[in-house]
Amino acid sequence: MEFEPVIGLEVHAEMQTRSKMFCACEVVDSTLAAPNSAVCPVCAGMPGTLPVVNQTAVEYAIRVALALECTVQHTSIFARKNYFYPDLPKGYQISQYESPLAVNGKLVIRTSSGEETIRVRRVHLEEDTGKLTHVERDGKSYSLVDLNRAGVALLEIVSEPDLHSAEAAKAYGEALRDILRYLGVNSGDMEKGVIRFEANVSVRRKGDKELGTRTEVKNLNSFRALERAIEYEIKRQSKILEAGGTVEQETLGWSEARGETYSQRSKEDAHDYRYFPEPDLPPLVVESDWVKSIQSKLPELPHAKYHRFIKEYGLTEYDAWRLVEEQKVANYFESAVHGLPSAIPPKAVANWMLGDLFSLMNQANVTVSQLKVQPEALAELVQIVSEGQINQSSAKEVLAEMFTSGKGAAEIVEARGLQQVSDESFISDLVNQALVENPNEVASYKAGKTGVANFLFGQVMKKAAGRANPAVVRAELEKQLSK
Ligand code: ADP
Ligand code: MG
Ligand code: ZN
Repeated sequence: MEFEPVIGLEVHAEMQTRSKMFCACEVVDSTLAAPNSAVCPVCAGMPGTLPVVNQTAVEYAIRVALALECTVQHTSIFARKNYFYPDLPKGYQISQYESPLAVNGKLVIRTSSGEETIRVRRVHLEEDTGKLTHVERDGKSYSLVDLNRAGVALLEIVSEPDLHSAEAAKAYGEALRDILRYLGVNSGDMEKGVIRFEANVSVRRKGDKELGTRTEVKNLNSFRALERAIEYEIKRQSKILEAGGTVEQETLGWSEARGETYSQRSKEDAHDYRYFPEPDLPPLVVESDWVKSIQSKLPELPHAKYHRFIKEYGLTEYDAWRLVEEQKVANYFESAVHGLPSAIPPKAVANWMLGDLFSLMNQANVTVSQLKVQPEALAELVQIVSEGQINQSSAKEVLAEMFTSGKGAAEIVEARGLQQVSDESFISDLVNQALVENPNEVASYKAGKTGVANFLFGQVMKKAAGRANPAVVRAELEKQLSK
């Protein structure tokens, strides 16, 4: 029997405004700040306090909604989602339920099978919860609560069940992360937990119209976890159906260590959140002029940039995709291309960036903003290589020095005496010498073993200490051998 996986994602992304969603507390880096150092009576859930909506958080949320081509609702309503948990001191979370901020959007993803459009069901604003840490001390278990994160503006983005593989789900997560970064609303630092996923997974017989019973895997904090958990669920559910069984609707956790999902709660003990409109906040009214002005300030987004890069610079799809992932990388590429004479294809810049430059950056753990090699300097290097002034292996050395010292390409080439020799009479002499010294190879070449030309080429390059222009050497070698 052939099965088709069906996946819908719920993504939670912190809106990294200066202050929290409903109070003036600072939004701090939860991996650095002292626990409970950014807490006030409002986000600590003290009785008698009142929430006030953070306008910037709403603006950030609208940016995301517009980037996902959603319809922003004129009026949306905050609601109380009631449940008791120690990381939620009020006993309820302010969220949006029946009337979310925005609906009906879409996101284009790119997988190994090409581009696909995934529908976005809704985008709504809520507040984050605190963080619990479970510790053992003196043989006793404790749970520590840190409320720094409690009340931070959180955006929930819910997809339609349009994804059909773990790969596609990961691509959706990545595309969304890229957009959030472009919009400047979220750092995209997954390891800091600023974006979290929940995967709804079901499996049905191929061709079936109805959706199968889904499970919901909570708290996936990395793309790897997202991908692995979905793969695991697809296999697990397919096996059950294969054996004629039925999948239980339940909420699952993911164990990274064991590489498996585990049951957290079944449908029977699902929460009843007793939603009702938040009495302390009026409906959120968003005027269309404001939405228009936010729309007019949106940057060019990754997907549009991707198509432009292919069209304008003749890049491959793969190169274009990698270059647009981060806005700063894309800007760097374009600045370098602008510094290049028009005869040299931009593809050369892409090659140097995605190859040697990225690997130097990875090794040294350096980001584009910290890079000592300015785009103009990279353009200069690309030009010097393209014009045959230095060869490829010298160019690698030069780039490595540019990377550590920040010096210009021409300056390093000059100081190291790396200029390639293209002088024909000089090269012609070297070729002649090599042929004289290797009469046997010349004879076998003439007898039809043309492969030995590579050996002879190597001999010439050795004589030139690698500095002879390889194209000129090859041409000269061919000329002299065919005499
Ligand atoms: P809830 O809020 O209870 O999790 P929703 O109806 O809002 O329920 O759905 C949440 C997510 O689950 C959405 O992304 C939706 O696309 C997805 N989803 C719903 N039904 C299925 C299904 N049968 N298989 C896979 N995904 C599903
Ligand atoms: Mg859900
Ligand atoms: Zn506060």
